[in-house]
Amino acid sequence: MQQGQSVERLVIENCAVATVDAHDTEYADGHVVVAGERIEAVGAGAAPHVAGPVRRVDARGHLVTPGLINTHHHFYQWLTRGLATNHPLFDWLRALYPVWARIDEPMVDTAARASLAMMARGGVTTAADHHYVFPRGAGDLAGAVVRAAQDTGVRLTLARGSMDRGVSQGGLPPDFAVESLDEALAATEAAIDRYHDASPGAMTQIAVAPCSPFSVSTELMRQGAELARRKGVRLHTHGSETAEEEKFCHELFGMGPTDYFADTGWLGEDVWMAHCVHMTDADLAAFARTGTGVAHCPSSNARLAAGIARVTDMLGAGIPVGLGVDGTASNESGELHTELRNALLVNRLGPHREAALNTRQALRLATVGGARVLGRDRELGSLEPGKLADLVLWRMDTLAHSSIADPVAALVLGAPAPVTLALVGGRPVVEDGRLRHVDEAAVARAARAEARRLGELAGAGG
Ligand code: ZN
Repeated sequence: MQQGQSVERLVIENCAVATVDAHDTEYADGHVVVAGERIEAVGAGAAPHVAGPVRRVDARGHLVTPGLINTHHHFYQWLTRGLATNHPLFDWLRALYPVWARIDEPMVDTAARASLAMMARGGVTTAADHHYVFPRGAGDLAGAVVRAAQDTGVRLTLARGSMDRGVSQGGLPPDFAVESLDEALAATEAAIDRYHDASPGAMTQIAVAPCSPFSVSTELMRQGAELARRKGVRLHTHGSETAEEEKFCHELFGMGPTDYFADTGWLGEDVWMAHCVHMTDADLAAFARTGTGVAHCPSSNARLAAGIARVTDMLGAGIPVGLGVDGTASNESGELHTELRNALLVNRLGPHREAALNTRQALRLATVGGARVLGRDRELGSLEPGKLADLVLWRMDTLAHSSIADPVAALVLGAPAPVTLALVGGRPVVEDGRLRHVDEAAVARAARAEARRLGELAGAGG
């Protein structure tokens, strides 16, 4: 993109830089120059002379990285945190479906604002929301999520989800919580037509995202894949999360989840799947061959006792892997730093032990890995000239990180680092350590009130 001389440059200098480019280039003391919505220069030492108006940020004591990318979340779950805290996945879902079936537009609006605010203050600049609960008469839930992201300033992939396999059809959710096949497909297509932006630098994209094999009909899986490919958008769902799901798929379909995905058109480089914990070598080979991506959600997998995803093997096979918070009903922290840290720690508990994942790989998962999973690695995920200026300035000179010389190790292994500045397309979302467009206290108040209202409605519904 051509930038005129009159565009104000933002020069960030005197800080450590982790570019997360193909060579993991880092500078102990470097600079980043932003022109308009894109990065113009990155390098060691002081910034080169730039003509025209300039705003300078003296970032000493900081590390600058690409903005974090969250590839799997359920924003609405902000209102049902801290419930069913000792349940595995299927029991947890059975406990929460009746509550989730009572959500409405004001609740989703509040939950989305709270989820986005929590992520943004922790350095997330792009987030994917997998929303699959659409009670009849609940209002414009997809619109509420899109507007919340626009107002917060975070880049959004809304994975328009759906469920059409209720209990009476052999599924897990109660019948009153599901849509019909035709309703789900029509509403997903309408969301694409209304909100999907395929142009460079897009702030809003839509994906087709039936919830999971145990809550969706085979027909919705097949027709959902056809819809996504006809429209040129990405496909997202949950896959291979638990041993119970594996058993369910064998009983209902006569095959495991990955074979079922292959059979219904759900493997491909336009697909990313959450979890993928229970994967055989053959499953991994199928993902690698087709370029199917994975959203690794280590905290949620631990919270629901699902298991440890084989991330080291996935990376070895060339499978695209990003990180996901997952819904805050199974990861109450709601921010992505936890996932960088837990991706490294949890995978070291697996067979590869200390060789499982290093700090640079963890940072890659959270940045360029996520960009690849969302199909946006040509313009997001690393600090390189020409890419979008989505970046985060992490404060590393406080007590929390005071004795750690390696800033990437401090970021990944240390306590959550305060974010001084977060840019999305060159525009500040966090500035001077505060959310630029969000009143945190007001969002917290609204979230408390809406969570109480949801609890009361669900209680009244029995
Ligand atoms: Zn999920």
